[in-house]
Amino acid sequence: MEQAAIPALRAVLQQPRRVILMNKIGITTNVPIEVLLAGGYQPVDLNNIFISDPDPERLIKIAEKDGFPINCCGWIKGIYGVCMEYDIDTVMCVTNGDCSNTVMLMEVLKHRGLKTIPFAYPEQPDINEMQKTLTKLAAELGTTLEAAENIRKQLETCRKLADRLDTLTWKDNKVSGFENHLWLVSASDFNRDYEEYEKQLSAVIENAEKRKSYPENSIRLAYIGVPSVYGKELYRFTENDGARVIYNEVQRQFAMTQPVASLAEQYSIYTYPYSITYRIEDIKRELEKRNIDGIIHYVQAFCYRGIGGIIFKDVFKLPMLTLEGNDNFYLDQHVRTRIEAFIDMLKRNPGR
Ligand code: SF4
Repeated sequence: MEQAAIPALRAVLQQPRRVILMNKIGITTNVPIEVLLAGGYQPVDLNNIFISDPDPERLIKIAEKDGFPINCCGWIKGIYGVCMEYDIDTVMCVTNGDCSNTVMLMEVLKHRGLKTIPFAYPEQPDINEMQKTLTKLAAELGTTLEAAENIRKQLETCRKLADRLDTLTWKDNKVSGFENHLWLVSASDFNRDYEEYEKQLSAVIENAEKRKSYPENSIRLAYIGVPSVYGKELYRFTENDGARVIYNEVQRQFAMTQPVASLAEQYSIYTYPYSITYRIEDIKRELEKRNIDGIIHYVQAFCYRGIGGIIFKDVFKLPMLTLEGNDNFYLDQHVRTRIEAFIDMLKRNPGR
């Protein structure tokens, strides 16, 4: 994610550190932010601060200096670095539905004197279970589910705008893969100011609607897996080579763009925390709807989710390129050559 592309975040980063995070709760992944907002807290996605930092390697080094192993996922180390560097004092850690690394990260943060709030998604995407989970969380944060439902209604406009931007990407061909990534991934905390997010995204959409469409013959790519450490470069590189990412799987999930009747439903149809089966159903639907030629599957080094690629290769009947990133925040020549070869192959044999 390019810092200059996120004016709201840049403004936040420029404020004095201790002031920035007053009444804030750092979050390690997507959580029911409506409940946090109803409780009077400002969710702050620590991943977005990490990847937008002018020097993310420095944050990883802070974690490694404090003892995090080299073979630990870069996002976990980056989140730890953000907690230390930005004086975060409270973190909500997802202990079920994200990854086991977060469980130990939570222990270390607690040991360092931070307040941690564990949050566990239910084992299954069951609406009744989710209702109980959200009610319990609301009580812990001194609010009610009814108040959180009111916040859900307030956030509906933002989520509809994110959906409109997504349509402008795959259907109208007017929005780049990076813009799509940026606005959808930012919905995890709406850049810490949902009213500002709504204003800025409305302006982006108004402008995009007037643009010329990308050429019809561009190769249409899907990006599946966790957001990459390559940020804008990956999207720009594919576009310069005659291809476009028109589907960002996890980012779209974070934005929760599907209309729902309740928070329990919203967080039950969210596929990321549950069995890979739900992700596959969602991805298959979108691949077909968006007329995709090929898939880029990004895996983070040392992440258990990468193993799911074994299943993806069997169930998706489209060419797939698997890229593994670690703590290199740019596309090196080896990765560039692999992407070029993949796009070249798709140009000769489009999946459509
Ligand atoms: S990339 Fe994988 S290992 Fe790293 S935080 Fe995310 S789920 Fe965990």
